[in-house]
Amino acid sequence: MLDVQGRAAELRLLLNRAAHAYYVLDAPVMEDAVYDRLYRELADLEQNQPELITADSPTQRVGGEPAEGFSSVEHRIPLQSLDNAFNRDELQAWHERLLKQLDRNPGTDLALVGELKIDGNALALSYRHGVLERAATRGDGSSGEEITTNARTISSIPLRLQIDDPPEWVEVRGEAFIPDGTFAAINAKRGARGEALFANPRNACAGTLRQLDSKVVAARRLDFFAYTMHLPNDATDRPESQWQVLQWLEQAGFRVNPNRELCADMATIHSFCDLWQQQRHDLPYATDGVVVKLNNLRLQDEAGFTQKAPRWAIALKYPAEEAPSRLLRVVVQVGRTGAVTPVAEFEPVALAGTSVSRATLHNADRIAELDLHLGDTVVVCKAGEIIPEVVRVLPELRPAEATAVQLPTTCPECGSTLVREGAEAATRCINSSCPAILRGGLRHWVSKSALDVDGLGSKLIEQLVERGLVHSIADLYRLDAALLSSLERVGEKSATNMVTALEQSKQQPWHRQLYGLGIRHIGEVNAKILASAYPSSAELGAAEPESIAALHGIGPEISASLSQWHANPSNLALLADLKEVGLTLKATAVAQVAQISNDGSSSGVLQSKTLVLTGTLPNLSRSEAKALIEAAGGKVSGSVSTKTDYLVAGEAAGSKLTKAESLGVLVLNEAELEELLRP
Ligand code: NAD
Repeated sequence: MLDVQGRAAELRLLLNRAAHAYYVLDAPVMEDAVYDRLYRELADLEQNQPELITADSPTQRVGGEPAEGFSSVEHRIPLQSLDNAFNRDELQAWHERLLKQLDRNPGTDLALVGELKIDGNALALSYRHGVLERAATRGDGSSGEEITTNARTISSIPLRLQIDDPPEWVEVRGEAFIPDGTFAAINAKRGARGEALFANPRNACAGTLRQLDSKVVAARRLDFFAYTMHLPNDATDRPESQWQVLQWLEQAGFRVNPNRELCADMATIHSFCDLWQQQRHDLPYATDGVVVKLNNLRLQDEAGFTQKAPRWAIALKYPAEEAPSRLLRVVVQVGRTGAVTPVAEFEPVALAGTSVSRATLHNADRIAELDLHLGDTVVVCKAGEIIPEVVRVLPELRPAEATAVQLPTTCPECGSTLVREGAEAATRCINSSCPAILRGGLRHWVSKSALDVDGLGSKLIEQLVERGLVHSIADLYRLDAALLSSLERVGEKSATNMVTALEQSKQQPWHRQLYGLGIRHIGEVNAKILASAYPSSAELGAAEPESIAALHGIGPEISASLSQWHANPSNLALLADLKEVGLTLKATAVAQVAQISNDGSSSGVLQSKTLVLTGTLPNLSRSEAKALIEAAGGKVSGSVSTKTDYLVAGEAAGSKLTKAESLGVLVLNEAELEELLRP
């Protein structure tokens, strides 16, 4: 492990290289969130040990050096960056620091302005007597590139301010950006011409602003949102607040982002941040956070600046979806199919709003592709609901003594040798009595999309297997409340609830039961197709492999997997056992009607079917039921015969029910009829 000094030097080198690629070459070598995280690590090291700070540290500088090919101009007033808050606690801490700075009591409310942080490039526009005189990029904050000709092509930058009696001089600042749609079109054109693509709209915008040919700039249709202005010290008629500044800019003819709010307190700022964190993807341009600014300009002056940024403003960055972390170890998990999944365990990082410390590595090939070593700095990604993944390794940060990650050769659960067959990517444990496979099978059976048994969580399943109380999914139905409540962390009430949930799960449709068996390649969709073609486990088991393979959407691989499964006596024993504990392993009457009706080509679900109504239905009157049946193409007859397809029976059904049963006519209740007719 590196000492602190070594780590700081390493981070400086890496960040400076990345900043050069980003600011000067417009071709970033890492994601912003990764840069931010490494930057924060360096800043924290420097804060704890200020002697680590060097003049070339990226924490001491704004942006990058101006690019060659443009004349460099000194900024009259430096263009600073913004401090970042990466979560709400940091935002709150900024507010508390600000109150202290302004000598206010903790908890005092100050008016604040919430603005969107446009992910573009800062421009400083000087107007003399209302006419655009000079436009410059931020550069390193004290001097930038002079890009006046290019800025003139941006139609949202007024060449003349639309105000009477303009000040002798004013500098307007804002963000130039490329809207998403334009960005996509630019990259599409570049791709077609075989040119390198821009990594993101911000880099495309920076590259465009530095085009020597302003015709190219005009064609790229940049846009601009103004967010502040500076007047000479002796100017009269000065705005008093950031809110007034934004209004002034709008009146002067600038585009000002409409998604802004004058907030009376931090609670309102938090709501503003919540709103835009959710809605930012609906905007036609990129934003990477929310900027919170103190509204009162006099108080802004009082708060002042740090070396790089104003104290009166902060950028709350949206939760990162990618971040670096240090790989601690790789563990392997054995799933219900025996497939072995390597999982990376790393130092916890906050991603998309949650703390993440594990991510899938998929398989041995992926480990080799990443060239993963223990102790590596890995880039982890988690966007929204997506399962965390290691997307990249930063080899520059690899410790010298690091060893390459290898998958084990034996199953960590049962010790049997792991196998990798043919062209398969997965390595598997093929011992069918491996406890990990049993646990996986049980978890799958009770899962939401299968039998949906509430309350039987992973921890409980672990206990049941470990104590030898359950050897198959059928055994679950032999558990009683007394036994369950003797387990750790299971109360009497939840034990009873579990038994009820298991009992109720027996009513789940046949396709879910089939899916729950966890046969390879039989996912939810395939299970539905198979269950509708073969309405019982007996029929599915007896079907010819060719007929199964011929089903639309099935094919030979799935059919072979089913044959293989049925050829295994222990699986047949499992089916028998499941029936013994009360599962039907077949479709209910409703499903069978639906299936028979679907076979016909006619439109209504009951097309050319004859139904008979008997008894009192709980909700529908006779005439309502009749109307519903007829609307679905069916015919209602008064008496049961061999021609009757279905009998709909309500309470106090009499002889018609007996006759229907004797003739083997399917009997439905009102709920089943409604389910059948539901679109
Ligand atoms: P920044 O872009 O995070 O924030 C400061 C800038 O925000 C200002 O200069 C201004 O241009 C802009 N801004 C947008 N909307 C604004 C508003 N409403 N009010 C005020 N300002 C607004 O900081 P930075 O110093 O320009 O750059 C640092 C960021 O650049 C890092 O956070 C990182 O994400 C990125 N970066 C990435 C790499 C990389 O390799 N990927 C390298 C260097 C920098």
